[in-house]
Amino acid sequence: MDEMRELYQETILDHHKHPRNFRKLENARSSEGYNPLCGDHITVYVLLDGDVIEDIAFEGSGCAICTASASVMTESLKGKSTEEAERLFGKFHDLVTGDPTETPNTEGLGKMAVFFGVREFPVRIKCATLAWHTLRAALEGKAESVSTE
Ligand code: ZN
Repeated sequence: MDEMRELYQETILDHHKHPRNFRKLENARSSEGYNPLCGDHITVYVLLDGDVIEDIAFEGSGCAICTASASVMTESLKGKSTEEAERLFGKFHDLVTGDPTETPNTEGLGKMAVFFGVREFPVRIKCATLAWHTLRAALEGKAESVSTE
């Protein structure tokens, strides 16, 4: 698990410093997410082609875990169907909220798997899932902001 821990730190630092798809998307669905516990505040943009996520981006300010999670999420979901995105959210949620003493099921999660480390820091779970909750709201066409409270 030491290897995973190193990967966790490396990936989060990298995506925090250089967030991918960090921009506004014009003519896209969007939603705002706010995590008052930590101060994370992001907007997620998603452009659909039928049921497929053609493009996805985000902007805003958040802690390292929030920004890295949003960055990895946008990277992972481009070209996926909304159904697949919902399924991955379920898996990601299980990953970060699971029992820290158990080996995580990371199947199909790709780079998102490194966020398993979050389960050891329950206060950070909302940081890690904020982008996903916000994406879900954008897909459902909810314009009002999402709060983790
Ligand atoms: Zn945070």
